[in-house]
Amino acid sequence: MKSVPVEVVAESAIPGPERINLLGMDRRALEGFFARMGEKPFRASQILKWLHARRVTDFDAMTDLSKALRAKLASEAEIRVPEAVMDQRSADGTRKWLLRLDGSNAVETVLIPEKSRDTLCVSSQVGCALECSFCSTGVQGFNRNLSTAEIIGQLWYVNRLLDAEEPGRQVTNVVFMGMGEPLLNFRNVIPAAELMKDDHAYGLSKRRVTLSTSGVVPYMYRMAEVTDISLAVSLHAPDDALRDVLVPINRKHRLSELMKACRHYIADKPHRRITWEYVMLDGVNDSDTQARALVKLIGDIPSKVNLIPFNPFPGTDYRCSGDARIRAFSDILSRAGLVSTTRRTRGDDIDGACGQLVGKVADRTRRRQKREQRMRVAQP
Ligand code: SAH
Ligand code: SF4
Repeated sequence: MKSVPVEVVAESAIPGPERINLLGMDRRALEGFFARMGEKPFRASQILKWLHARRVTDFDAMTDLSKALRAKLASEAEIRVPEAVMDQRSADGTRKWLLRLDGSNAVETVLIPEKSRDTLCVSSQVGCALECSFCSTGVQGFNRNLSTAEIIGQLWYVNRLLDAEEPGRQVTNVVFMGMGEPLLNFRNVIPAAELMKDDHAYGLSKRRVTLSTSGVVPYMYRMAEVTDISLAVSLHAPDDALRDVLVPINRKHRLSELMKACRHYIADKPHRRITWEYVMLDGVNDSDTQARALVKLIGDIPSKVNLIPFNPFPGTDYRCSGDARIRAFSDILSRAGLVSTTRRTRGDDIDGACGQLVGKVADRTRRRQKREQRMRVAQP
C-alpha cells in the first residue's frame, strides 16, 4: 500500500454561504439560474463545458462570456472543487482518494482501471444508515448526504488528475457503489447523474452510469420517471428471511415488491437489464439450493449477476465463500441461462474494495437517532 498526501487544489472564488456553487448545477438548474439573470439558456451549455469538460475554475478565463457576465458570475457564484487529503494506490492498480468535504467530513472515491475502461466508484453519502450486516460502511453509521457538487466533484477531481498524468485519459464508466445508499440522497444524486450524461459536461452514455441500490423501492419508481441510467440491485439473498438479516431494508420493502420495481424500471427500455449484486458469504447464502432459488427469483427478468467475493473488515464474523463454491454457484446460474460474472476483488490492500469504504465520520453522536430512523425510510 502506498499513501501520499496530495497537494491542495486551488479554489477560484472565496467560498461563502451566500454564493451558489456552479459545480453542482445540472443543465436544468443552470438554465433556471441564467433565466433569473435575464440570460439565454445556451449559457448553460457554455458553463457546463468550461466547468466539467475543460475544468476551468476561473471566470475570467471563460472567454466566450461577456466581461459583464463574468463579473456578475464572480459576484454571485463560485466554483468550489474538492480537495484530496489522501491518495492511495493498490498493487493491482486500483486507486483511492479521500476527498475532504468540510472541516470534519471526508469521502472515498475509487478508480478501477481495466484494459478498456476506467471505472470510478463514487460515494453519495458520508456513511450509510441502512446497516447491511456485511458492509463496513453500514456498520459505521450515517453522517450526512453529499451535495450534488460533492458527488460530481469526485468525477471532476479524478478526470483532472488522469488528464494531467496522461493527456486525454478520462473516466469511462461511473458506478454509484461507493459509500452510501444513492436513492436515499435522490435529489442530489439524480442531477449528478444528469451531469455525467450531459454531452457538454462528461458525455457518458446511460449504459456507462450505474446506480446501485439496496432496494429503496419507492425511489426506484421515481428513478424510472426521471432518468434512464443503468440499475444495479444489491440482492445478496434469494428469500425474505435471509435478506431481512443481510439487507435490513428488506423488512420494509419485501422481495416481491423489489422484483416488481425492477421489472418496472426496465419495462419499455429495449435491451436493458438489471445487474444483480450478490456477495458470496461462506455458509450463509452460497449453497446450491440458494443458487436455484435465485434462478427462480430473477430468471424471467433480463439480468446480469455479479457475484462479489466478500471483502472482510475488522470485527466481522462473515467469511468469503471458497473459490470452488463460488464456481459451483455460478455454474448453476449459467446452466439456467443467466449471465454471471465473478467480480475480481480489487484494491483490497488499500481498503478500496466493495464494502470496505469508511471515509472519516466525525459526528457519531447522531448515530443512534439515525439508526432509529433507519427503517422509517422517507417516502418520496
Ligand atoms: N448502497 C448501495 C451502493 C453502495 S454498496 C448498495 O448497497 O447497493 C456497493 C456494493 O458493495 C453493494 O452491492 C454492496 O452490497 C456491496 N458490498 C458491501 N459490503 C461488501 C463487502 N464487505 N464485501 C463485498 N461487497 C460488499
Ligand atoms: Fe449501505 Fe449499501 Fe453498505 Fe447496505 S451495502 S450498508 S445500503 S452502503
